[in-house]
Amino acid sequence: MEKETYISDFNRDSIHTILLNNKEDEIEELFKMALNTRQEHCGSYINLRGIIEYSNICKKDCYYCGIRKDNGYVKRYQLTEDEVIASAYQALENGLGSIVIQSGEQSSKEFILTIDRLIQKIKKLSNNKLGITLSCGEQSEETYRRWFESGAHRYLLRIETSNEALYKKLHPDNLHHSYFARKNALEAIKKTGYQTGSGVMIGVPFQTPEHLAEDLLFLRDFDVDMVGMGPYVEEQNTPLYLYSAGLPSLQQRFVLSMKMIALLRLMMPNINIAASTALDAVNKEGRFEALKAGANVLMPNLTPAKHMQNYSLYNGKTRLSDNCQSLLNEAARFASSAGDKLRFNQWGDSRHYLLRTNKHEEVLK
Ligand code: SAH
Repeated sequence: MEKETYISDFNRDSIHTILLNNKEDEIEELFKMALNTRQEHCGSYINLRGIIEYSNICKKDCYYCGIRKDNGYVKRYQLTEDEVIASAYQALENGLGSIVIQSGEQSSKEFILTIDRLIQKIKKLSNNKLGITLSCGEQSEETYRRWFESGAHRYLLRIETSNEALYKKLHPDNLHHSYFARKNALEAIKKTGYQTGSGVMIGVPFQTPEHLAEDLLFLRDFDVDMVGMGPYVEEQNTPLYLYSAGLPSLQQRFVLSMKMIALLRLMMPNINIAASTALDAVNKEGRFEALKAGANVLMPNLTPAKHMQNYSLYNGKTRLSDNCQSLLNEAARFASSAGDKLRFNQWGDSRHYLLRTNKHEEVLK
């Protein structure tokens, strides 16, 4: 396939064609082009964030998710403030310049104030050295603003799918799970001033390659600064598990996810793209492979070991309780084979965001 086919003209049809193309040499070529594009536009390094899974308590009932409210098999937990602080220190000790605080969705006053306090404490204890990304679901504009003013500067809210009809099949049909509310929340995040991240699940029941092509166009048209997307991995105690038989194999979902990452890199050369954890549920070096196909962010898990297994979004996630240091060593080895280095002690902001907000001098750093 000619380079121009990829670069010049991304539309529903051309993306669809590439997603369906299974010629191995052409897929390899796509990955190589994505790696080159990432190195040219974002540099030859991998940004690091330590992810802290704050709580698996969730008010939502998404049909695919292992920590949905109605899943009675989950042992619910919420980290104490001291546990979060200890994880933040661990990030500093390991040279991770940023953390992500992710959580099941809650909207109580207490939750909002606790997250707020944690942001302020972490900024203070690290002398502003740790960047903070939040991934705590749909909140009011006021809450997004409060957390932003306290020092969080990136927010990830996956749209999950950009197709409203498909969204309805993956979620209960009620006000709590509205496609438009989610999209509005994403807009509010951007308006507040965050580096704004979104993403989708790849290979969910009822999803077609056309949906995935539309997802990439959605992310481009929304002008996101960062993306986390990865394969759907079925989880036993969820309603969607009933539809597992008709799914593409896990390996097929993995390749599809890699292609989505590579394509998005070509479409949006200077955004941050995470090598999402779900890639490892399919292939134990999945995340590293994604770093060679356009991704540029790796997120070692810093959730305290005793709780990690309870943040069970999907089957097989628990066996990923990797030790941060050994993950970093492995990642460094992989990265160097592609001419990349891990980037320690830096926030690792999205260049796309810096340019879109006219912070050109920061880009040169
Ligand atoms: N409450 C937060 C965080 C949700 S969990 C929010 O709404 O943003 C983080 C992500 O895990 C979700 O956005 C979803 O895309 C992903 N996820 C959930 N269940 C999954 C599954 N079975 N397979 C793969 N990814 C899943």
